[in-house]
Amino acid sequence: IYILGIETSCDDTSAAVLKGRKVLTNIVSSQKIHANWGGVVPELASRAHHQSIVPVVDLALRQAGIDKYQLSAIAYTRGPGLMGSLLVGATFARAMGLGLGIPVIPVHHMEAHILAHFIDDPDMHSPEFPFLCLTVSGGHTQLVLVNGFLDMKVIGQTTDDAAGEAFDKIAKILGLPYPGGPLIDKLAQHGNPHAFRFARPEVPGFDYSFSGLKTSVLYTLEKFQKEDPDFIKKHLNDISASVQQAIVDTLLKKVKLALDETKCKHLAVAGGVSANSGLRKALSSLAESMGVSLYVPKPSYCTDNGAMIAIAGYYYYTSDTMRTSFLNPVARWQVGS
Ligand code: ATP
Ligand code: FE
Repeated sequence: IYILGIETSCDDTSAAVLKGRKVLTNIVSSQKIHANWGGVVPELASRAHHQSIVPVVDLALRQAGIDKYQLSAIAYTRGPGLMGSLLVGATFARAMGLGLGIPVIPVHHMEAHILAHFIDDPDMHSPEFPFLCLTVSGGHTQLVLVNGFLDMKVIGQTTDDAAGEAFDKIAKILGLPYPGGPLIDKLAQHGNPHAFRFARPEVPGFDYSFSGLKTSVLYTLEKFQKEDPDFIKKHLNDISASVQQAIVDTLLKKVKLALDETKCKHLAVAGGVSANSGLRKALSSLAESMGVSLYVPKPSYCTDNGAMIAIAGYYYYTSDTMRTSFLNPVARWQVGS
């Protein structure tokens, strides 16, 4: 089985070719244009997808060394995401599928982040069912109970900002370019995580909240900046480390609670923020202390990529619940519905 996966939900144009569950190619073209704007500008993203989609798909097929007529199916991100961006990938997939006379498979972007764990790769172990997945990305923060490849239930989620959004918005306050998450991660490695104590807002159950942290960073730093206009610049490492610590503490608290209550023995992490080194370290010590196995995808399968869409497509293609005909893209879409 050869599956082409197409991802265009946000600011990365990506295409991947899978042979079974093995990745032959995974091409990601990240849009640089948004760095100047401090966030993704939807109209610019859509236009950039238009420019990249043909060359990116073409390159993925060429480097995989296969002809498009060998494809068994095309999987594309149906949602959630930016409508203008989703439309580019969905329309392209639909047209190509029609032309080749093969199934076109709509994929849920957040389910795909989780299913990335099942890519057949020597550097990864796939989790056993049932497992708890902490999905942390630019637009989502969710605790998902995964009972099977296509059987997922959200048990907790953010009530305001996502963890990645918190990283990016706070990075913006610090004067760092978008996306700030990876930069804070780097700076934090040279800083003291206990230098500043930023707020860790409380919400009930397995839910999350991050907007209070952002405000707390903003007010704290405004105060210091008044006394010393170079304060942020001088303490960038310590601030970054303390911000990261606050986000990691917040994430882990509910992971621990959910592991306790669900009695899950397997824990996975998915989405762009799972590339964060502080989070990875903290999760691995939590897992060890609780006697739980931890599964972490390769960094290239954490941030948006076509391979995760293709592997999700693979499971739909090979399952009885064949979801193999085109559906219009949707900006909002709950996991498991
Ligand atoms: P969603 O999946 O919710 O639709 P998205 O697709 O934009 O959102 P991803 O591509 O999964 O999100 O992840 C991007 C996010 O991950 C950004 O917010 C980015 O700052 C964050 N991120 C990436 N690497 C790191 C890192 N090392 N540390 C912290 N954050 C990171
Ligand atoms: Fe994503």
